Amino acid sequence: MPDHQFINRDALIQTIQQEEKVWDVLVIGGGATGLGVALDAVSRGYKTLLVEQSDFAKGTSSRSTKLVHGGVRYLAQGDVMLVREASVERGLLTRNAPHLVKNQTFIIPIYNYWDRLKYTMGLKLYDWISGKLSLGASVFISRKKTIESIPGIKTEGLLGGVLYHDGQFDDSRLAINLVQSILENGGSAINYMRVVDLLKSADQKINGAVIQDEETGKKFHIKTKAVVNATGVFVDAILQMDNHSGKKTICVSQGVHLVLDKTFYPSEHALMIPETSDGRVLFAVPWHNKVVVGTTDTLVDEASLEPHALEKEISFILETASLYFTKKPERSDILSVFAGLRPLAAPAEGEQKTKEISRSHKIIISTSGLFTILGGKWTTYRKMGQDMVDCIEKKLKWRHKKTTTASMHIYGYVEKVNWNDPLYFYGCDGIKIRERMNGTANEWISESLKIHKLQVQWAVEHEMARTVEDVLSRRTRALLLNARESIRIAPEVAKIMSVGLHKDEQWVKQQVEDYTRLANNYILN
Ligand SMILES: Cc1cc2nc3c(=O)[nH]c(=O)nc-3n(C[C@H](O)[C@H](O)[C@H](O)COP(=O)(O)OP(=O)(O)OC[C@H]3O[C@@H](n4cnc5c(N)ncnc54)[C@H](O)[C@@H]3O)c2cc1C
Repeated sequence: MPDHQFINRDALIQTIQQEEKVWDVLVIGGGATGLGVALDAVSRGYKTLLVEQSDFAKGTSSRSTKLVHGGVRYLAQGDVMLVREASVERGLLTRNAPHLVKNQTFIIPIYNYWDRLKYTMGLKLYDWISGKLSLGASVFISRKKTIESIPGIKTEGLLGGVLYHDGQFDDSRLAINLVQSILENGGSAINYMRVVDLLKSADQKINGAVIQDEETGKKFHIKTKAVVNATGVFVDAILQMDNHSGKKTICVSQGVHLVLDKTFYPSEHALMIPETSDGRVLFAVPWHNKVVVGTTDTLVDEASLEPHALEKEISFILETASLYFTKKPERSDILSVFAGLRPLAAPAEGEQKTKEISRSHKIIISTSGLFTILGGKWTTYRKMGQDMVDCIEKKLKWRHKKTTTASMHIYGYVEKVNWNDPLYFYGCDGIKIRERMNGTANEWISESLKIHKLQVQWAVEHEMARTVEDVLSRRTRALLLNARESIRIAPEVAKIMSVGLHKDEQWVKQQVEDYTRLANNYILN
C-alpha cells in the first residue's frame, strides 16, 4: 500500500467543477451503504463521486452496536439465508480490515434446560453456516466458568453459558478508511456536500444533480449516468426530489446505547441477552476500554442526524444491565448516551403496525432511473455495494465488470495488530503517526482517552476532518467514550485544527460553542 496522500478537500472540489465531466456513478450518502456502493463502483473502474451532506458516517453508521455479525437473532427467526450472507461478509471484513475487526467471544447466560438445548444447537448451526469463514467454534461452558467470565452475573438458577464468536469493530473508523480506499482507487468522496436537486433529461430520465457545498453555499451542477440514493433514513427526501407526489416509504425506529466504565462489566467476553423482559436482544460489548450496552427499538416521529435518547430507553437499559453487571449502574455513571436510527417499512393505509425493512437490503429503481438502496447492516455493506452496482450495470445495459472488493484490503490494513496499542485503529498509519510524535508520545491532550495532538493534525491532513465534532466523534471516539472529557479537550482540539485549516480565533470560539452544545446531549444530568 503506498503512503497515503494529504487529502485536500478544495482539490477534490476542483475535480467536480469541470463542467464537461460526466461521472458514471454519483452516490448520495456517506454512510456504510453509500461507501460500499462507491468502493464497488471504483473497483470496477467506474468514474465515481460520493457526496455526504454532513461528515462521513455522521448518521446511523457511527451509532451502531459495533458488531460485525452473522446475526444470532435472525437465526432464531429462521432467516438462514440472511445469516449465511452476513457470516460470509463478516469473514471477508475480518480478512480485509484486520486492524478494525476483532474476533470477539460472546456469552449467552443459560437459566433453563430448554434454553441450553436451543442455544447450544442454534450456535452450532451458526458456526456451521459460516463454514470456512467461522471465527471459532461455540461451546457450552459450566456455571463456574460463566461466573468467572462474567463476575456480576445473576447466579440464581444459572446453569452455565454458551460461548460463541462474532466480530467487533469501530464503525466510523471503518467509514473513514473506506473513504481513503475510494480515493486511493481513483474515486472521489466529499463531505459537507449536499444533493439539493436532481436533474433530468427531456425524456424525464435522471442525468445529474445539483450539489451544494455546505461550507460555502456554492452550488455545482453534476452530470452523471447513474444516481444512487443511499441516504438511510433520509431516502424519502431524495425520492421526493425525484417524484414530488411520491408516497412515504419508511418510518423510523430508534436504538439507544449507553457507554459505561469497564469496572461495571470487567469481562473480556461480550454479553448477549437474547430475550430481555420485553423480548428484545441486549448486548454489552467491551469497546476501547469501556463497555457499550444496548440497544432499544422505539418508533420516533422523524429522521434526524442527532437523535435524542428517550428517558424510558435509558431506564430500560440500566435496569436490564443491573441484572448482569458487577455494580448496578446509575444515570450519573453513564459516560455517554447515543442513539441511531433504522428505517422501517411505512405502514400501508389503514395498517397500524410497521414492519422492519428486511435486514437483508432492498433496491428500488424509479421510472426516472433513480437507484435507491436501503436496509441491510454495516456487516453486509460490501455485498450491498456489489448488488447495487450489478443492478446498475444490468439496468443501464453496461458490460458486466467484476467487482474486486471481496479480496480488496481496506485502507489501513496491517497483518498483525496490537490491540493494546492506543493507536491500533489507525492500522498502517499508526507507525507514521508515532514517528511524527517525535519525543512527545506521552503528551496526550486527554490522558484517559489517549488522544494526542498529532491525531488531531492527522485527522485534518489525512482524514478530511472539518470540524471539532468530526475529530472528537468520528476520527477519534471521544464523544461516545466520555462526552464530558471530550468537552474538556474541545478548545485545544479547535486550536490545533485552526492551524491546519487556516481558520481564525472566531472560528475556534464558534467550534467550541457548537461542539459543547452538541456533546451536552450525550450527557445525562
Ligand atoms: C441502533 C442500531 C444498531 C446497529 N448495530 C449494528 C451492528 O452492530 N452491526 C451491524 O452490522 N449493523 C448494525 N446496525 C445497522 C447499521 O448501522 C446500518 O445498517 C448502517 O449504518 C446504515 O448505513 P446507511 O449508509 O444506510 O445510513 P446512514 O449511516 O444514516 O447514512 C446515510 C447518509 O446519507 C446522508 N445524506 C442524507 N441526505 C443527503 C443529501 N441530500 N445529500 C448528501 N448526503 C445525504 C446522511 O447525512 C447520512 O450520513 C445498527 C443500526 C442501528 C439503528
